[in-house]
Amino acid sequence: MEKCNLCPRICNKDRAVSVGFCGQTNEIRVARAAPHYWEEPCLSGKNGSGTVFFCGCTLGCVYCQNAAISRGNTAEHGITVTEEHLAEIFLKLQAQGVNNINLVTPTMFAPQIKKAVSIARKAGLTLPIVYNTSGYERVESLGEIADMIDVYLPDFKYLSPELSEKYSRAADYPENAAKSLEYMVNKIGAAEFTDDGIMTRGVIVRHLLLPGQLAESIRVIDYLFEKYGNSICYSLMSQYTPLDSLDKERHPELSRKVTTYEYNKLIDHALSIGMKNAFIQQGGAAKESFIPTFNGEGV
Ligand code: SF4
Repeated sequence: MEKCNLCPRICNKDRAVSVGFCGQTNEIRVARAAPHYWEEPCLSGKNGSGTVFFCGCTLGCVYCQNAAISRGNTAEHGITVTEEHLAEIFLKLQAQGVNNINLVTPTMFAPQIKKAVSIARKAGLTLPIVYNTSGYERVESLGEIADMIDVYLPDFKYLSPELSEKYSRAADYPENAAKSLEYMVNKIGAAEFTDDGIMTRGVIVRHLLLPGQLAESIRVIDYLFEKYGNSICYSLMSQYTPLDSLDKERHPELSRKVTTYEYNKLIDHALSIGMKNAFIQQGGAAKESFIPTFNGEGV
């Protein structure tokens, strides 16, 4: 982290004394650590997924659904923790009976998380580790932490560099998301589940349909399915919610939810190309109340 190159931004900042695009120093900041019941059913099950929400983000999505902790000064939302404290958080979640430890937006803290997982493993952590990422990753960095990951849960947001730049300030998102996903799929191999249907190993690619972007979403799932077919799982999400943090004057097209028509079209297309291992959402998923409160719970 003396010349941080953890993600494709390659800021080369010394995070002991400054911050790069992600806005984070080398101190781990966590906004919430608690069972979460609205992840994909094979992760949440009935006991919940042990989500640990990290502050900051390597992307700059104008519509970010976790804007309260992802950008700028997140001091009021995050709590600084040491690697040992983070290990204790993992163990506390395990004691609550969750199915896995779900690292949400972990990229900026991957080296410290690796140490925390190692400490927790020695102290009795047995749960699978879920790497829940925007997909904007460097393969080199993924390689450094691969041995601790059991389930990859990456987004695949766009194929269009123009759209990636416009909405997430990352024209190079598609190429990096594609390379990273290929790495994850090759590394993890075949999916594994418990008798109760909880995933213990595998890859689930998430794609969030944005208002007015049905054509881009169809291109994304065509690309993914052509490359991976039904060898991985997909999660096609309709839950986009316009939040107060969205600049509605600059992006008026994003100031609505996706319509049932748009989402049904996407699902129809997924079925028509033969997609089988896909999670789909029911009406009512697009609610602000499904976005957790970042009040330091469990930290
Ligand atoms: S993790 Fe942060 S500081 Fe490091 S390269 Fe990425 S955006 Fe820059």
